[in-house]
Amino acid sequence: MRGCPAHHAPFQGPKIMAQNITPVRGMNDILPPDGDTWLALEGIVSELLAGYGYRHVRLPLLERTELFRRSIGDATDIVEKEMYTFDDRNGESLTLRPEATAGLVRAAISNGLTHNQKHRIWTAGPMFRYEKPQKGRYRQFHQIDIEAFGYEGPDVDIEMIVMSARLWQRLGISRLSLEVNSLGSAEARAAYRDQLVTYFEGHRDVLDADSLRRLESNPLRILDSKNPAMTEVIAGAPLLLDHLDAESQAHFDALRAGLDAVGVAYTVNPRLVRGLDYYSRTVFEWVTDALGSQGAVCSGGRYDGLFEQLGGKPVPAIGWAIGVERLVALCEAEQARPAAVEPHAYLISVGADADAAALALSERLRDAVPGLRLERHLGGGSMKSQLKQADKSGAELALIVAERELADGVVSVKPLRDRREQESLDEAGLSRLLVTEVGSR
Ligand code: ATP
Ligand code: MG
Repeated sequence: MRGCPAHHAPFQGPKIMAQNITPVRGMNDILPPDGDTWLALEGIVSELLAGYGYRHVRLPLLERTELFRRSIGDATDIVEKEMYTFDDRNGESLTLRPEATAGLVRAAISNGLTHNQKHRIWTAGPMFRYEKPQKGRYRQFHQIDIEAFGYEGPDVDIEMIVMSARLWQRLGISRLSLEVNSLGSAEARAAYRDQLVTYFEGHRDVLDADSLRRLESNPLRILDSKNPAMTEVIAGAPLLLDHLDAESQAHFDALRAGLDAVGVAYTVNPRLVRGLDYYSRTVFEWVTDALGSQGAVCSGGRYDGLFEQLGGKPVPAIGWAIGVERLVALCEAEQARPAAVEPHAYLISVGADADAAALALSERLRDAVPGLRLERHLGGGSMKSQLKQADKSGAELALIVAERELADGVVSVKPLRDRREQESLDEAGLSRLLVTEVGSR
């Protein structure tokens, strides 16, 4: 064969069908209609957050591994066994972010954002944790993450929780309940830690392997155990809430009074410790009983020590994160749909002249009717097959341009979802009808 060196067999193509490449375990493709639900949800969230003065930021998915070790903590599940860590070609250890707070604090320090300034910011995107995949628990999952830097609270703590309550209301979901707790100051926690160790040392025989390990490294995390066999021994443990320092107690009292004042209901869960090391004082979680065992939809708390821990000047800070997969699942469970995405109308045209007229008409309608979702049939076909597509699209109306309509200068409007009669309208009449249609959905 010319041009093909003798020692190279010419490429003949695969003899057998190529094997499918399967997706990575625990990582999901978000397809329609879910993709649209996600987008609508993000739209509602961004509008709500803008309404409270929160600004949007976007950060790299990769950070230096050291960032997470120093912030989340070496003795946490995330750092111990869940991070996607690898050396890049330069031999530097990098990690796909397992959460957003550490990166946001790193960015605030790197960019000097907190020099005599306060910031209310938010971001959204994928997070990566090597967990055992199951319903509501994935290896790539998504969070919406909201943070306030430079605010001592408790007013900002209250505002954040009130914002979250308003979000559930906007989304039309109600099967969520709020749990709050205070982790006190670092000093109060250190004293409490000693008490906990004494208590759990006395119950070594009932501790599971994880808890025995944590007894040495991070005894507070035993309280966060999800092992049902540990429930009883945890229930008997001393409570941090009984050992709060005076300032943290006042902070917590003010938080509770604030929530009472705006009528956001909560329960105090003295065993809520959260899975990350950096929290102090206020912690909270919104949980649901509608999603089985993965019931935490949103959680957050104050982390006044984190800036310093990462080499910055001390900056009081608080933040919370929504698990998007779980929130979407809850919307589904409660049949709350963030937004309709079906087209208002589906435009059918039969014949080359009608196709050209329909293209021009559709663009004029998009100008004339703000918010119109108009899907134009592409690729030709008979009236019957196009009507089938119109029905499948979920559109309320089929708009038809064929020979007769061209001759009469009208568009036929066929309601697809109710018993209204088909009618013929001129373009001005059609625009008016569509404006009404858009207003009603
Ligand atoms: P959990 O107790 O369920 O493991 P967590 O305490 O590890 O949650 P955070 O790190 O606080 O969770 O993350 C905030 C939110 O992100 C959680 O409330 C949850 O909705 C969601 N989330 C956390 N891990 C996952 C995951 N692996 N898959 C899907 N969503 C998750
Ligand atoms: Mg977890």
